This record gives sequence, structure tokens and C-alpha cells, in this order.
Amino acid sequence: YEDLIDEARLTALTLLDRAEDLASPTLRLGITGLSRSGKTVFTTALIHALTRGGRLPVFRAMHEGRIARATLEPQPDDNVPRFDYEGHLAALVDERRWPESTRRISELRLAIDYAPARGGRRTLTLDIVDYPGEWLLDLPLLDSSYGDFAAESLRLASAPARRELAAPFLAALAEVDPAASADEGTARRLAELFTSYLAACRAEAVSMSLLPPGRFLMPGDLEGSPALTFAPIDLTRLTDQGAYTHAPPGSLAAMMQRRYESYKDRVVRPFFRDHFARLDRQIVLIDVLAALNAGPAALADLEAALDGILAAFRVGRNSWLGALFRHRIGKVLFAATKADHLHHTSHDPLEAILRRLVERALSRAEGAGADIDVVALAAVRATREAMVKRGRAHLPAIVGVPEAGQHDANAFDGLAEAAVFPGDLPENPSALFDQSLGFKGLSDAEGGDFRFLRFRPPLVERNGTGQALPLPHIRLDRALEFLIGDRLR
Ligand code: GDP
Repeated sequence: YEDLIDEARLTALTLLDRAEDLASPTLRLGITGLSRSGKTVFTTALIHALTRGGRLPVFRAMHEGRIARATLEPQPDDNVPRFDYEGHLAALVDERRWPESTRRISELRLAIDYAPARGGRRTLTLDIVDYPGEWLLDLPLLDSSYGDFAAESLRLASAPARRELAAPFLAALAEVDPAASADEGTARRLAELFTSYLAACRAEAVSMSLLPPGRFLMPGDLEGSPALTFAPIDLTRLTDQGAYTHAPPGSLAAMMQRRYESYKDRVVRPFFRDHFARLDRQIVLIDVLAALNAGPAALADLEAALDGILAAFRVGRNSWLGALFRHRIGKVLFAATKADHLHHTSHDPLEAILRRLVERALSRAEGAGADIDVVALAAVRATREAMVKRGRAHLPAIVGVPEAGQHDANAFDGLAEAAVFPGDLPENPSALFDQSLGFKGLSDAEGGDFRFLRFRPPLVERNGTGQALPLPHIRLDRALEFLIGDRLR
């Protein structure tokens, strides 16, 4: 019955959305990506560009002067928090620090008054929905039993790139008897160790992407909830004859299984039904540079995560998932963020690498059922380019103000500029995939390793009334044109 109820509920929501779209055209744009991929910065920059304009030559409606104004409207959904645009912009512009990252779903509504190319006046309502990409990667769980989930999680945990990070969890797991009677303390300890292992895989130097269940890393408002107090236990250990499909009643394994099922029912399904299934357009932000920096294992893991993301956009063929995806998401943009860490000659190669990753995933997914494109961008450009003398040669460098206290003992005071030499990305992305080359990232004039250097946001001028002038960016206009340009023609 739950499938039926879900489908009825979704149909009702969809009809309401359609009615709203007919009454006044409305577009729901999803902004997602794993933690630190750049969602908050992108969303803030996108709203700023739409409301304040800027140098956006590829975004035609704006470039042709057909956008009269874009204004912030009251929040559309009462039970979803509002995206804190004003707070995030103040952090960027007033304090020159990066805003607080996305930790849960939030929304913001814009009304865009524009003149269609054929004349007249129109208003497009744009609902922006920012949510953690970790939640998207939970979709495959809906089709897998606890046994499948546990087997797959343990397979991943014992892969060479993860084994060491998973060691404390695996050691604790080896000590417990899955058939022993259920015990809250044991469940909590295993869940904590499992969560720490996932978090360690996410750390910058490792940069793994495929780390379900998504709420373990991004709990949103479920922090500490029993719905998250489970962990994978190897059910095959229960018997000599093979795996049980059902753990013995009252056992630790049975308790884990029950909680896993309730995680699917109470957390995963409602998110897809109430939020994801209602999106019309989607941008997926990916920190490709972080994966390249961390090495081949992180890149392979990113590819696997892309498979999971594409699965979410694919038209389902059966079950209630099919009903979910019967219509909707017409366009998906994959964006490699933080391109301002590279010289402009590497922007196209960065795009080519992402395109290759997405194409490979697409070929495995037998199409996506949506119009797909890729772009390399910087929503807020924190660096500029310069030629710097090194020995006799003049080399292209990028210059920015590194955040204070990074690297050995406060190397930076957060005030002075530094020039770094960005690594070169290969012109042909095949080189990366065929030889599994890592990317060397940034280095300073002495050849120091600056791969994970963070620059402060740029200094932004203000106009006479104290409003921030346009934020510098790279290819933000291309993203805007692809995502909403056709609705402003
Ligand atoms: P979220 O977790 O996806 O919301 O990621 P954020 O938007 O908070 O971005 C995470 C961090 O990435 C920021 O604190 C910045 O250090 C960096 N970042 C994001 N976007 C950009 C960008 O366009 N340029 C640069 N240089 N850094 C960025």
C-alpha cells in the first residue's frame, strides 16, 4: 500500500505544481553536489547574478537586456527552510570569507520579469532547491535489501583504497556476533565507527565520493536519530549453509535490518517523493580537482558515484520509482567547480575530463532520459592570472590571497597575495584514464605542495548605494543559459 500512497501523493503534488505552472510559469531548479563541492557559493552567486546582473555574455536574456528585474519572493514551501542568501552574500562580500556550507535542504523563490524575444512582458518564477548530493546517492538503497546493502558496503570497505580507514570499524564488527541478542550500545558503537570511516573517506586528501547511506555524513535534522543507528553486518556469517535473508528475530542483525528498512521508508523515500521528483532542472556540482588531486582511487570512486547520480535521473522502468520519474527533470548540467584554481588554458581540459567521466557513466546507464551537458566553472572567481619569472623563464601563474593559517605554521596571514603555479591538465583526457595519472595540482615558486590551498573570496567593489557590484566568475553565464535560458526566450 505504501507504493500506492506514495504514488497518489506524488500525483497530487505534481498536479499542484502543474496548476501553478499554468497559472504562472514556474521552474524548479535543483542544485546539488557532495559536501564542499560548492553548492552554497554557486547558489549565492547565481541569485546575485540574476538579481544584480553582471558580465554574462552567454546568458542571452540578460545580455540582450530582456530581464527587467529579478526579485526575491516569499518562501514557497512552509516546511523547507529558506536559503540564507543575505547571510551568505554578506560573508562573501563584507567579510571576504566563504559562507557556511550546505548541511540540509533549503529553498528560495525568485520572480524574473522579462521580455520574451517576440515582445510583451512575462514573469518566470524560479524555485531554487539546494540539497546535499549525499542524499541523491541513497537512491540505489531503495531497491536493495539490508543483506545487499551490507554485502556491498563491506565489499567497498575492504577495497585497497579504503581498507585502512575502515580498519577500526571492521575490527569492531569482527568482535560482534550478529545472531546475539539486540543491544543498543553495540548498535550505537558500530554506527559511530561506520560513520567515522565514511567521514575519513570524505576527507580532502582521500576525497572518496560513493559513501552511502547519505544521512550518515549529512544528517540534516536527523542528527543522533535512531533511524541512523545502524551499520552493515555480514549476514553470511550467520550460518554455515550460506546467507539468511532474514536475521533471527530479536538478534542484533534483525535490529540493524529493521532500522535500515525504516531509514529507507522514513528518510530516503520521502526525500525523493517530496523534493527530488518535483524538480524540472538540475545542476550537479563536482569538485573534480579534489578527486584529481587525491589520485586514481578517488577518480574511480567519483565515476562510481556518477553512475548512482545518473541512475536517479534515468527513467525508471518498474515499481513506484517509475511513477516518480515518468516526467520531469528535462535538463541536467554537470559542473566541475573551482576552475579558478587553474590557468584558463586548463578550463577546457577540465571540462573534457568531466565530459569523459559523464559519458562513461552514461554509456553504462543506457541514456539518462534528460538533456545533459557539462561545464567547468568558478561561481566566484577568487584568483587572477599573471606571468611570473622563474629562473629565466616566465611562467603562467594564478594569484590570490590564501586563507590565513594554511600549510606549515601559519604560512599565510590572510592579507598578502601569493602566486602559485597551477598543474597542467592533459589536453587529452584519455591520458588520465589510460594511465591513471594523478594531477599534480598547485605548487609555489619553490616547488612546495599547495594542492589543497584555499584562496579567500575576491575583493568586491560597491556602488553608490552600498550594493555589491557583480561578483567575478568563470562560465557562470554558460550554466545559466543551459539551465534556464530556454524559458526566457
Ligand atoms: P557545499 O558544501 O557544496 O555547500 O560547498 P560550499 O559552497 O560551501 O564550498 C566549499 C568550499 O569550496 C568553499 O568554502 C570555498 O573554499 C570553495 N569554493 C566553492 N566555490 C568556489 C569557487 O567558485 N572558487 C573558489 N576559489 N573556491 C570555491
